Amino acid sequence: MNHLDPRRTIAELKELRSRTADGNGAQRVAFTPIWVETREWLKSKLAALPLETHIDAAGNLWSTLKGESDRSLLIGGHMDSVPNGGWLDGCLNVLAGLEVLRRIDAQYGHRPPLTVRLVDWADEEGARFGRSLFGSSACSGTLDLDEARGLTDKDGVQLPAALTGIGVDFERVKDCGRELKNAAAYLELHIEQGPVLLDLDLPLGVVLGTYGVERHAITFRGQAAHSGSTPMNRRKDAFLAAAQMSPEIYRITERHGGVGTIGSCTTKPGIVTSVVEECRITLDQRHLDADGLARSLADARAASERFAQSGGVEVAWNRIWNIEPVLFDPRLIALCEEAVLATCGKSHRLPSGPLHDAAEVARAGVPTVMMFVQSLRGISHNKIEDTREEHLEMCVTAFDALAEKTLHAFA
Ligand SMILES: [Zn+2]
Repeated sequence: MNHLDPRRTIAELKELRSRTADGNGAQRVAFTPIWVETREWLKSKLAALPLETHIDAAGNLWSTLKGESDRSLLIGGHMDSVPNGGWLDGCLNVLAGLEVLRRIDAQYGHRPPLTVRLVDWADEEGARFGRSLFGSSACSGTLDLDEARGLTDKDGVQLPAALTGIGVDFERVKDCGRELKNAAAYLELHIEQGPVLLDLDLPLGVVLGTYGVERHAITFRGQAAHSGSTPMNRRKDAFLAAAQMSPEIYRITERHGGVGTIGSCTTKPGIVTSVVEECRITLDQRHLDADGLARSLADARAASERFAQSGGVEVAWNRIWNIEPVLFDPRLIALCEEAVLATCGKSHRLPSGPLHDAAEVARAGVPTVMMFVQSLRGISHNKIEDTREEHLEMCVTAFDALAEKTLHAFA
């Protein structure tokens, strides 16, 4: 008896789009009136099932189908979007999860072997206050309250004030950590948001974890000098040393894997008639393996020192931000692969470049896995974000199969 109806998920995604998007895309920015309306719409869908639904201390929505055991299978996503966002990022997971809940409720006569809980995380995108994964990091306990307390949006509204507006007391947001108490496993479906599955012509993929990130500013300091009077062999050219880093990061990722990006380059004095005195570049390195990330960083540092020395300039590093890689659960990765293979015959394992709420849940120690569905053009956070409808149907089917396998393997 299979009550799963992936077409219904697609119809609901379109219904949501018609309610919450304008000509520029989705406008479900967290804690705004459209987001609140989105929540009400979601609650009306959940009300058709025998679920207990509440909002936790951080504004996350939890909807629970009580099972034979208190141990819980968690299925999560986020209804919020960036401004001018796409129609799938985040809400696909929640609405596919809703469909999975309907199937489980029907199949097990309102009493599955494990308790099953759907969570809609609050402010995954961080679009308004610049802090991504707000609700899930409050829940995992990694949210830095002192840092978050001072965050303001572009109108000067502080995060605690915006939260008061939706009935959330900022000082108590971490109390929601108790929601993870009986968590046995956490599953999240997401659009890939990149081109890997598209290039392989595969509908679905199994996510191994999320990249660790090392983000640094590297400043080279030489000497400003007249561009006409200074012979080439007498220059202390900060730009020359910095520029050599550009091909070097390609060699480093060839050696160690992962990705590396020099995203910014500024020069001083920055005028056409002077040798560059100071050149600041930013380096963003990402890797799924902590050793690989550490080696990539060490190599970049060593190279910068080499280029500085040979160019007669100085170099200084400043860390902007870092996070360790988060690896998903090997048992769930295997179950996810089985579900993908059963649905479309081919599977692929890949890391996630972007961070997701799933990374926070995994950091809290809950066995976690994500499934990716192909993104057309490899684009998201844009109104042109899209996925073929046949692939959307497949992902709901495969995600449901993963939930079913997990219900038994983790019971
Ligand atoms: Zn998302």
